[in-house]
Amino acid sequence: MATGTLHIDLDAVAANWAALDSMTNVETAAVVKADGYGLRADKVALRLARAGVRRFFVATAEEGIKLRTALGHGYEINVFSGHMERDTPLIHEAGLVPMLNSAEQVTRHRAALPEAAYGVQLDSGMNRLGMEPAEWASLRSDLETGPLTLVMSHLACADDPAHQQNAAQLAAFTEMTQGITVPRSLAATGGTLLGPEFHFDLCRPGVGLYGGFPFEEATPVVRLSLPVIQVRDLAPGETVGYSATWTATRPSRIATLSAGYADGLIRRMSDVAHLWAGDIPCKLAGRVSMDLLTVDVTDLPEIPESLDILGPHQTVDQLADAAETIGYEILTSLGPRYRRRYSGDVA
Ligand SMILES: *Cc1c(COP(=O)(O)O)cnc(C)c1O
Repeated sequence: MATGTLHIDLDAVAANWAALDSMTNVETAAVVKADGYGLRADKVALRLARAGVRRFFVATAEEGIKLRTALGHGYEINVFSGHMERDTPLIHEAGLVPMLNSAEQVTRHRAALPEAAYGVQLDSGMNRLGMEPAEWASLRSDLETGPLTLVMSHLACADDPAHQQNAAQLAAFTEMTQGITVPRSLAATGGTLLGPEFHFDLCRPGVGLYGGFPFEEATPVVRLSLPVIQVRDLAPGETVGYSATWTATRPSRIATLSAGYADGLIRRMSDVAHLWAGDIPCKLAGRVSMDLLTVDVTDLPEIPESLDILGPHQTVDQLADAAETIGYEILTSLGPRYRRRYSGDVA
């Protein structure tokens, strides 16, 4: 077996959802965009449905229709990108709820599917998606008379509790939604952790479910084990890998492992990240290449069949630090070549 094995603990995903849910007195939905942050939206959503989740969020209508096929009816699937040009048949067929982001989307939705439920996304300061205050003010009374299910906005800095933009966005969202009777939502994972004034009627965590920062108490969800293909001994002065960036300073033993940047182990972690043989860390030696990693295993008493690059000793966030990125990017980059092993699988 020459490909890595990605262990995905769906019971841990459910436990993380329950832990976040227990921090609030309101409904907790689940964000499963980008194929469940790379872990497979169908499996994640089915496990979460069993744990009690009734409302899911995806980025696009295409993701929504796939999720509907997996989940069946009886769950609300909300689409962050709203109602785009070719989305009408998907929204209609799968009963998706688009979060309308602009007057243009409102017009499109009303013309195409006048009876169909919708939410509204407001811009409270992130300047990415959602209606600006003036646009919302002009549409609000009209939108409120239709099948409006949710009014939401998104925090730009919620992973940093001390950031002043959190309070500013909270104030802006509160002001824009004063007196509204439909449910409101502002918090993703970070906002859920910021406390009850950010919770409104619905929290919608994503990354925390998958064990990522800023939910530091999360149960780890992924373990990634990479098989050793070959081991060789080097004399001092010999180099390893492309561009010869690593040079042996002592008699060294190098293991070559099956996985590389094509599998989401991005090249930026070259010469920095560690792999683990049980409790013993072993540093990457030389450049990450497309399909292979080279690791300094000189200090191991014996060479195991595989080493772990994600697991209890190294979370997605710790690996992300080594690669100067964020846990979200590590998760969503994990490639299709791994053998995926699920525990707690419902399907
Ligand atoms: C991705 C996303 C979420 C989930 O964010 P996490 O930080 O992963 O919890 C919630 N709301 C919106 C609008 C998003 O784009």
